[in-house]
Amino acid sequence: MISNTQQQVLEQLQALRREYADKLPGVLTRLTALGQDLERSGAPEKLAPELLKSLYQELHKLAGSAGSFGFDALSARAREQELEVKKWLAGRVPTTTQLGDFVANIDNFSRLMQHSSPESISDVSVDPAPLAASAEASHSLIYVLEDDQLLASELTLALTNFGYQVKHYATLTAAEEAVIEQRPDFLVVDVMFSGDERTGPESIAELQRRSGDPLSVVFISARDDFDAYLAAVRAGAVGYFVKPLDIPQLVNTLEAQLKLAQGSPYRILIVDDDVLLSRHYQVILEHAGMRVELVSDPREVLDVMRRFHPELVLLDLHLPGCRGYEVAQLIRLNPDWLRVAIAYLSSESDEQAQANAVGYGGEDFLTKPISDLRLVSAVCVRAARSRQLSEAIDRDSLTGLLTHARIKEQVKVEVQRARRTGKVVSVAMIDLDHFKSVNDTYGHALGDRVIRALAQLLRQRLRQTDGIGRYGGEEFVVILPDCELDAAQVILNDLRESFSAVNFNASEVAFNVTLSCGVVSSDREDDDQLLEVADKALYRAKAEGRNQVCAAG
Ligand code: GH3
Ligand code: MG
Ligand code: MG
Repeated sequence: MISNTQQQVLEQLQALRREYADKLPGVLTRLTALGQDLERSGAPEKLAPELLKSLYQELHKLAGSAGSFGFDALSARAREQELEVKKWLAGRVPTTTQLGDFVANIDNFSRLMQHSSPESISDVSVDPAPLAASAEASHSLIYVLEDDQLLASELTLALTNFGYQVKHYATLTAAEEAVIEQRPDFLVVDVMFSGDERTGPESIAELQRRSGDPLSVVFISARDDFDAYLAAVRAGAVGYFVKPLDIPQLVNTLEAQLKLAQGSPYRILIVDDDVLLSRHYQVILEHAGMRVELVSDPREVLDVMRRFHPELVLLDLHLPGCRGYEVAQLIRLNPDWLRVAIAYLSSESDEQAQANAVGYGGEDFLTKPISDLRLVSAVCVRAARSRQLSEAIDRDSLTGLLTHARIKEQVKVEVQRARRTGKVVSVAMIDLDHFKSVNDTYGHALGDRVIRALAQLLRQRLRQTDGIGRYGGEEFVVILPDCELDAAQVILNDLRESFSAVNFNASEVAFNVTLSCGVVSSDREDDDQLLEVADKALYRAKAEGRNQVCAAG
């Protein structure tokens, strides 16, 4: 059965194809005229370069686009002719017979045009909007498969604290039944189970085979060898954690994966002067759940980049006024866009030209004509990779919190939002007390653990919408949108108390660490200076004896 949206997509594609078919005779007439000019130019060694260039461009474009609109035979023949002209452009002189055949082939184009393959439109069997799911992360259901009761409780507690709904299974059989009954959003699976011949990855691999959609799973194990990793990969793992477990790191992976799965649609920018063809790509990619913008004039690229923030740019090589690789280089000049993936989508079939283009800014090359299915999968993996890297760049590796640059940016965003909505945002700066002496006394590694513990506490206690960043070594910034100063003070004080009660253990001795905090809200202060003012308040908290929260003003 064909769904409603699928029907609409088919209709859109058919309309584009009709439009293309309407324009095609005009293209063929132009080509025939160019062929006649060729015949008239006399001796093969006297072919005018301008004429060859025009011919080359027309053939190149035809080869790249005709395939996408169902004229496969025409596309293939145009490609052959294009390569022929390319040789002549490079200086080879055709024989009179070759020239005659060439012109005859062009005259034959209109016959090939009749051989369109309308069935290729049914290629559009891509999943309707596979990326559009939008379950609330906080309600995600997680199954923990672990026979070690103690570790299971610890994991369950940590994950519950993050707002996940967690169910624990001590045996593989119980877990398998549960998965079949209700599919979880994520599985955290031990590798060895006492009293069971099978391993976790074996059980999951079997479930994966039976399940239509892949299950998201991470494995936890004491093993750290190639075969263990390989078994995990074969069971579809997206993560593998060696015991003793680094729980914050595991939670990071889980959050990142769930966010990717439930994330907003990928943003794709297509830069191509062939408007019909890029509209065809747009329909296909949007049907697969992505957002697509088109630019036909390369001069508009910068504006659209700034407004649309694409994750992947697809560039044609032959553009009006400049080359695709120049646009790639131009994008790469701006450090803000380093994380954007750039791929060429062009009918350039020459390997050397492709390799050169990839050397300049773009990362790889997709060749037109491209099937709809391949287009979707190629774009999807590149956009996913781009987003994944981008997330990694934005996250501090020790704590998984936002980096200095990102949290500063976030402050700006939230201040602007508060201004627009008339609400108040509070911003806090937190710094660990006498942290230098913690390092000096217990070692740097333990110091790191303290930093991570605070990060974990912040994430557990604050809302999903709050911003949390590691501003510097042992300094943190917290953004509380829609939160008045009084309420922010209560929350932060509560945090301060909880943190000071956390016991850290260093070979036999237990110790505690305290924090100081400065907080400010956007209604009390000049809202462009919130971080500076929060920092001053923090300084006061330090000066007045540490282990306290000071409000600005
Ligand atoms: P104060 O109460 O005034 O903040 O005293 P302090 O000792 O915390 O202040 P100071 O800024 O002098 O020292 C901060 C220390 O934090 C120095 C540095 O070695 C340590 N630090 C910074 N980043 C890290 C990190 O990533 N890991 C660890 N273990 N220590 C860090
Ligand atoms: Mg400090
Ligand atoms: Mg400091």
